[in-house]
Amino acid sequence: FNIKMDDLCVHEELGHGQYGTVKKVSHVVTNVVMAMKEIRLELDEKKLQQILMELDVLHKSTSEYIVEFYGAFFIESCVYYCMEYMDAGSLDKLYGDGVPEEVLAKIAISMVKGLKFLKDELSIIHRDVKPTNVLMNLKGQVKLCDFGVSGQLNKSLAKTNIGCQSYMAPERIKATDTYTVSSDVWSLGLSLVEMAGGKYPYNYDTMFAQLRAIVEDEPPTLPSHYSTDACDFISACLHKEPSSRPTYAELLQHPFIQKYHDTPVDMATWATEAFAAIQK
Ligand code: ATP
Ligand code: MG
Repeated sequence: FNIKMDDLCVHEELGHGQYGTVKKVSHVVTNVVMAMKEIRLELDEKKLQQILMELDVLHKSTSEYIVEFYGAFFIESCVYYCMEYMDAGSLDKLYGDGVPEEVLAKIAISMVKGLKFLKDELSIIHRDVKPTNVLMNLKGQVKLCDFGVSGQLNKSLAKTNIGCQSYMAPERIKATDTYTVSSDVWSLGLSLVEMAGGKYPYNYDTMFAQLRAIVEDEPPTLPSHYSTDACDFISACLHKEPSSRPTYAELLQHPFIQKYHDTPVDMATWATEAFAAIQK
């Protein structure tokens, strides 16, 4: 069924980014708690309709590694995107001084499986892999959000692009419109280094210096207490040459992933404690 603003009770703001605001809402009829993202766009009715149509593919198949899509609508020129509410929030707020290796491995497994699902099932390249777009719930599940499902929405957002921390792969900085799956693999690697070290790995005064370092310097590495397998996984993702980066299928075969795949890690307790630590 269709979600309408009239059916929603709006609660507190969960955060905001470059393009809009995310609020916690409850769908009164079904009693489902959701996260609603408001995206301000200056677009005509036809383009807004196209966005809603393109988002519809998300109803066709679902994955436990992707934040569920409930529906979208627009009011004037704002798109409202309703999705699964993830009660522990995003990894950028949870990682603290850095996550332990076994937690990093479980996050990596979920991210790779989520990205592989988007590519194989929906033919989607994520385009915005970064810690704020990796969400957790208190059950310990890790899911991706904010992937580029709608071509029209991607196009409309691209104009206002560029934040103060870049997860763009070197080839994207050097030439625009060169986005491939392997660019997402770079962003995956960079996000994992950030979560492991507790800070964004390129620290420069200006955006210019930061982008130059991404293109010219050696890629960042994990802190020294991580295993050789973990470091090797990261350096494979962060190859400067995109064609040398592994595919998702190859990443799933990597010793770092294999080692932790069938090892239980109490992600629920980790998420609960990390979430409690930021409430203080
Ligand atoms: P950018 O605008 O560069 O993509 P961002 O990802 O931080 O940055 P938003 O996507 O607008 O910006 O999200 C804002 C914040 O809202 C996120 O950082 C996250 O903490 C929170 N958030 C987003 N979606 C959800 C959700 N489904 N459940 C819970 N919290 C969410
Ligand atoms: Mg986001």
